[in-house]
Amino acid sequence: QDTSYKKLIQLHEETADLFHHILLNTKAGEDALTYLENRGLTKELIATFKIGFAPRERNVLHQFAVAKEFEQDILLESGLFVQRDSGELLDRFYDRIMFPIRNQQGKTVAFSGRIFNQEQYPEAPKYLNSPETSIFNKRKVLFNLDLARASIRREKEVILFEGFMDVIASWQAGVQNGVASMGTSLTNEQIHMLSRLTNKVLISYDGDNAGIEATKRAIDILGTNPKFELSIVSLPDGLDPDDFIKKLGVDAYKELLAHGRDTLFSFKMRYFRKGKQLQNESERIAYIETILQELLTLSSAVERDVYLKQLAIEFDISVDTLKEQYQSLLANAK
Ligand code: ATP
Ligand code: MN
Ligand code: MN
Ligand code: MN
Repeated sequence: QDTSYKKLIQLHEETADLFHHILLNTKAGEDALTYLENRGLTKELIATFKIGFAPRERNVLHQFAVAKEFEQDILLESGLFVQRDSGELLDRFYDRIMFPIRNQQGKTVAFSGRIFNQEQYPEAPKYLNSPETSIFNKRKVLFNLDLARASIRREKEVILFEGFMDVIASWQAGVQNGVASMGTSLTNEQIHMLSRLTNKVLISYDGDNAGIEATKRAIDILGTNPKFELSIVSLPDGLDPDDFIKKLGVDAYKELLAHGRDTLFSFKMRYFRKGKQLQNESERIAYIETILQELLTLSSAVERDVYLKQLAIEFDISVDTLKEQYQSLLANAK
């Protein structure tokens, strides 16, 4: 068991080195490297994250691993290969840009591969992740947590992103306390890992519908946990953090992270009014009731008062009426 753990880690580490070498130093890697450079990634950044390239032929890694005398059962267990009916092993990842996924100790335990020539593979998913293995449980991994740890401690805050590219672009912009989950919503295991480093979490998901829904889910999970202090940055116009940096620059991005934050509650107010026609009376009343219901979850009387006043002004209702309604909801909730 212990030796197979070591062998699996060793195979992943050597695979990361191989793919990285292919990206930087071979003809096969040229197009992928150009793609990354066009996206603004520097050589230094590519080295920091040991980004690589898995070539188109599906035997390069297999031959490498056999030459290095990794045993067949390790290869099968690694998730890096798929087995044909004939028994032959093929490289799982091919013609993809490869992001090593490291565990908390900084060891590579999986990969995520990005298609960069989608027109050649119209059916293929944009990102392909390693399957779960004895060394990779995606619920227990946060991309970049090992490198971000120092900055999380220094800033006393962690930033949650949706995508690897957001983590990487932020890192290049000097924002190095960012992590991302593996395309899943936040798990209890991940929350536990974060809670050992900081109690402040900034959510910075994509500014599109999927990102807004994911933010709502993260709030429902984290916002009810009294251990955490949560804030939210809402990105404009469907941009993700990587797009934002590209379009508006590093300074604007840092300004957004520092001063463009929403509180949980103001995010929820915007979330609940999405797609509502508030000039319509019944929708307006329903909206106000939803917000009052949400106010029940706030423990701070000061905060409640702020939002009640905000509602009163926005909808031209007296604060007393809102308070009365709030009190009756409170009584019902008990
Ligand atoms: P890029 O900028 O390279 O397009 P992204 O990070 O902006 O990447 P999104 O489409 O916003 O990509 O998806 C966010 C994250 O969700 C990705 O980083 C990846 O972890 C995960 N993801 C996206 N598409 C897939 C997919 N088809 N299969 C598995 N995971 C995916
Ligand atoms: Mn997205
Ligand atoms: Mn995105
Ligand atoms: Mn993106």
